[in-house]
Amino acid sequence: VTRDDAQALDAADALAGLRSAFALPDGVIYLDGNSLGPPPVAVHERMAQVTRREWGEGLVRSWNTADWIGAPLRVGGKIARLIGAKASEVTVADSTTVNLFKLASGALTLRPGRTTMLSEAGNFPTNLYALQGLEAQLAGRATLKTLPPTDVVAAIDEDTAAVVLTHVHYKTARRWDMNAVTAAAHAKGALVIWDLCHSAGAIAVDLNGAKADLAIGCSYKYLNGGPGAPAFLFVAERHQAKIRSPLTGWMGHAEPFAFEDGYRGAADIRGQITGTPPILGLAALEVGIDLQLEADPALVEAKGLALAGLFIAEVEARGADPALTLTGPRNPAERGLHVSFAHPEGYAIVQAMMARRIIGDFRAPDIARFGFSPLFLSYVEVWDAAHALADLLASRGWDRPEFRTRAAVT
Ligand SMILES: *Cc1c(COP(=O)(O)O)cnc(C)c1O
Repeated sequence: VTRDDAQALDAADALAGLRSAFALPDGVIYLDGNSLGPPPVAVHERMAQVTRREWGEGLVRSWNTADWIGAPLRVGGKIARLIGAKASEVTVADSTTVNLFKLASGALTLRPGRTTMLSEAGNFPTNLYALQGLEAQLAGRATLKTLPPTDVVAAIDEDTAAVVLTHVHYKTARRWDMNAVTAAAHAKGALVIWDLCHSAGAIAVDLNGAKADLAIGCSYKYLNGGPGAPAFLFVAERHQAKIRSPLTGWMGHAEPFAFEDGYRGAADIRGQITGTPPILGLAALEVGIDLQLEADPALVEAKGLALAGLFIAEVEARGADPALTLTGPRNPAERGLHVSFAHPEGYAIVQAMMARRIIGDFRAPDIARFGFSPLFLSYVEVWDAAHALADLLASRGWDRPEFRTRAAVT
């Protein structure tokens, strides 16, 4: 397509108005909102307000007067609307890694007698590490089994307590069929824990429509909650009274301010909250969530898939470098919103793109990854980025020593 065609798509884009709600530097094309979303304009004012007025003037009283204590469930309830859950089924808490540990442990308590946690090889490392940590903790009472993605569903059996999968894969963008996998697990009496890190705010997720059991997710990616923003977790209502958290802290107690010696877990979603909520992080996150709620999730998904499709098509149409190969599915129904190209010089390519103020990221060993956040990107930006990449490949503009120096974070 031509750049004019891309401009016409922008003119017809129902989400285009949201761009001005984000504070992005001039001249930067930001294709890494799937790793760290940019700040909403309103977050600066909100942070000043929460630090000056709520923290500074309200002091400890703000737990009540600014409803800090209610923030995890309030923000969780808003996230619920983005992922097809009830408000009472989602809370903000801890990090994704910690939440996975808690829910995997909880899944084992919901399925006593079963010992297998099943996941896919190549899942996001922290997911596998958390499960390995739980396995070590349980010293033989539970085992993590990782299989190639094509073999996972067939391996679910009567010993499977939980299947732990990332809905949209962080590298390949391959999307699991949430309804089909959940149904297959349930047919064997197993539970599924869905990681929604690359889905929430990107793909129109319907957890209850899929009869999902448990889910976790990040809020600093497509939800634009800020670096290290607290994560969220979902426990279906039917599991809430029975599931046990292995991290029994006072905020998960039925009555935290009774100050009892003995732990009595809350029988609702609060049972998954551990300790004192991070109020500054929650305040920033709530701004991102409120912005996300202005957009229809179906439109967000459709635009994101269209942007990703445009990028793939424009890069490939130029055929600039045979060494560049798309990793993961082409079919929009089977993918998420980022695009990963494998190339032996993937790292240098990403660095050279950054020098042109087009920001993507690199995932070892050879993936140049570009994310297409629908709330702030335009079709023209994506068209420009695709052509910049194609030009760079054609000219070998990445082939310079300064683009090969590895930083700590890729
Ligand atoms: C980004 C990401 C995480 C990050 O977990 P943290 O605890 O926030 O570091 C976990 N899982 C997946 C699939 C991710 O993409």
